[in-house]
This record gives sequence, C-alpha cells and structure tokens, in this order.
Amino acid sequence: MTKIGDLLGAGRTFSFEFFPPKDDSTQLTLGRTIAELEPLGPSFVSVTYGAGGSTRERTRNVVSWVAKETPITPMAHLTCQGHVRSEVDAILADYRAGGVENIMALGGDPPEDEPRPSSDYRYALELVEHVAASGHFSIGVAAHPEVHPSSPDRESDRRHLAAKLEVADFAITQFFFEAHHYVRLVGELAVLGIDKPVVPGIMPITNAKQIARMAKMSGAEMPAWVVDAINGAGDAADVRAIGVDIASHLCAELLEAGAPGLHFYTMNRSTATREIYANLGLGVSSG
Ligand code: FAD
Repeated sequence: MTKIGDLLGAGRTFSFEFFPPKDDSTQLTLGRTIAELEPLGPSFVSVTYGAGGSTRERTRNVVSWVAKETPITPMAHLTCQGHVRSEVDAILADYRAGGVENIMALGGDPPEDEPRPSSDYRYALELVEHVAASGHFSIGVAAHPEVHPSSPDRESDRRHLAAKLEVADFAITQFFFEAHHYVRLVGELAVLGIDKPVVPGIMPITNAKQIARMAKMSGAEMPAWVVDAINGAGDAADVRAIGVDIASHLCAELLEAGAPGLHFYTMNRSTATREIYANLGLGVSSG
C-alpha cells in the first residue's frame, strides 16, 4: 500500500476515478474497465462516495476489492454531508483495517431533490481535520479552478481551499476545459503560501448532453469553441473522437505548465482514457 502524498512527492501521478456500480451488470463493466486500465500502470485510483452515505457499502466494496485483488493503490472518497463523527470513525477504522491509506475528504453534493442530510460537519475542512487526527491517511481535497458554484467570491473560495490544503496533502480539481483556469488557481494558492500538489481533473467529453449537465452543476464553463466543436460532430463516435482530442491537448498543456499529475474522470469506461494516454505517449493503448 502507498500514500498518495508520497507518490506525488516522488514524481508525477496518473490516476483514474470510478464511481461505485449500482448492480451486477455495472459491476461487471467496472471490473472490465479496471482490467483494461491496469496495464497503463496508474499511480492510484479513486472511488466516489454518495453524499449522505448512499454508497457507503458500495464505495467500500470497490476500494477493498482494488486493495486486495489488484496491485493498484486505492483512494476512498468520503463526504461530510450526512455523517456524524462516530460514523466517520467507524468508516476510517474499517479502511485502516483493510490496508487503505488514502482518503479524499469532501463536502459532498447530495442529490438536488433530496433534503440536505444532517451532519456533524459543515465544511470539508472539518472532515479533513478529523481524518488527519487519525494520523494514518494521506488526504486529498477538492479544488474548483473556476470557483465553487456556491462561493460568494473568488477570494473566499481560494482562502477556504488554502485552509484545507494547509492540513491535507494534495488537491484534485473539478474538470475544466482551458489550461489557464488551472494555472491561475495554482498561482492564487502560491500567493496564499500554499505549494502542495494540485492535480488537474480531466473529463473527456464522451456524451454531449451529460457533460453540459455536469458542467452546469460543477461551475465549469463550456467555452464556445468546445460547444461549437461538439455541435459540429456528426454522430456519437464523432463526439467521442472530438472529446478525446480536446482532452489530449488540454493534458499536454497542463503537463507543459508543470502539473504534478493528471486525474481522469473515467465514468467507469476505459476507452477515452486509453486513447488520451496513447495520444500523449504515456502508455500503450491496448485496443
Ligand atoms: P467545501 O470545502 O466544504 O466547500 C464548499 C463551499 O463552501 C465552497 O464554496 C467553499 O468556498 C465554502 N466554504 C468552505 N469553508 C467555508 C467556511 N469556513 N465558511 C464559509 N464558506 C466556506 N461529491 C460527492 O458527493 N461525492 C464524491 O465522491 C465527490 N468527489 C469529488 C471529487 C473531486 C476531485 C471534486 C473536485 C469534487 C468531488 N465531489 C464529490 C463534489 C464536491 O463534494 C462538491 O463540489 C461540493 O459541493 C463541495 O465539496 P468541497 O469538498 O469543495 O467542500
């Protein structure tokens, strides 16, 4: 097992994000995807968590499976929404017993149509501090290059992120389409005295409607040139090819700008990530 903070200290990381499958069929898809991505030698993989604890068991099952059955380092996402401290203690003890050493400590986005679950924590920083007190985990936090949609202003968004990063080991960003958003974020953190690694999150466009909905929710801007490129696509395969091309160029620019790694939002599929790897010359696309 390995701590992601140490991996980032040793060099660039290349990592993949999955969500826990809902049923047997999506579980098979995820198993196949992990098998297809394993040859790329990911530094780590992370597994999302349903705010309010809706995926508590399912997230744990995927993280534990990766830890036990593959050589890949896993990271478990955990949200403060919907949890009291004793539950978090139990979850952390369980991960620790299973040899898991990495936690992504998040605010959490409960489904829009559900009431906000009660919680002992208001902001992710409080969960970060709780996880840090256990002394066992490397801790990641969320960063929003284009500012979190509920932040009243850029300055407070950066101040709260800096406070999280003073305790945590690294950040992973929400997705975005233009490298200057990332470069500006890192510069703003540097002004606040923070130089911990901020790994850009990469979301290849594979489905036009889905990406527009997710961008709206997360506060990411779909630039006009991206919208035009996607609208000009002939069919679904065309959309995917354009999405891979856009993401490949973005990754190259981010690496050129000194990003400490790349974190791919895979949507539990391997093809787009493998194609981007091949475009960047990072690994051999295994078909
Ligand atoms: P926080 O750090 O708590 O920030 C939320 C808002 O509160 C921000 O506007 C911040 O500026 C503000 N804020 C923070 N502290 C204070 C303070 N002291 N006073 C006033 N305002 C404050 N969601 C899930 O539900 N499950 C997942 O698995 C998941 N994985 C993610 C992975 C990544 C890489 C990213 C980038 C996001 C992920 N999210 C996930 C989404 C995330 O939970 C949402 O963006 C959520 O709305 C905010 O999370 P946060 O950790 O940034 O929260």
